[in-house]
Amino acid sequence: MTSTAYILIGSNLGDREKYLSSAIAMIKETPGLELCDRSSVYSSEAQQMANGTPSFLNQAVKVKTEFTSSELLTALQTIEQAFGRTDKGKQLSRTIDLDILLYDAEIVETERLTIPHPELLNRAFALIPLIEIDPELVHPLTGRRLKDYLNDEDFKLVRQKEEHGPVIY
Ligand code: AMP
Repeated sequence: MTSTAYILIGSNLGDREKYLSSAIAMIKETPGLELCDRSSVYSSEAQQMANGTPSFLNQAVKVKTEFTSSELLTALQTIEQAFGRTDKGKQLSRTIDLDILLYDAEIVETERLTIPHPELLNRAFALIPLIEIDPELVHPLTGRRLKDYLNDEDFKLVRQKEEHGPVIY
């Protein structure tokens, strides 16, 4: 069965734009993942991290996949490792971070994986790129539209940096 998942890519170290585009290229090249769409790139200040932490770039992508949510996480972790990501500390800067935001309307709560992503509703930098791809998305647990969780202030803090046209197949 084919599922639809939304992934948030983040980077706040080094050549952040290049890391985002390389991560997307690797997603496209991963057998079992089909890239359907991607958002613009957004910039925001690091939240709940040490003073002086470099700002983040974030971009959401939509994929179709035959992988289960757990297999998808494994595939994304393989990509993170290719970027030298061995630190999994929550508060550390990172070249690349790949989070599963949504996987169909599935609700997953295991030691390894929580879907919808547990911080999704608290993170405008995840919600804004996500609803750029699919404005009518609904949160599987609350049944409310994701766009209803955003206010004007969120759009001031998370700035669109670069527009991306539609994916060319
Ligand atoms: P980080 O990459 O530092 O944001 O944290 C990744 C850790 O969060 C990994 O150990 C994953 O097993 C765990 N995790 C739990 N839920 C998710 C999710 N929805 N997407 C990605 N990683 C998740």
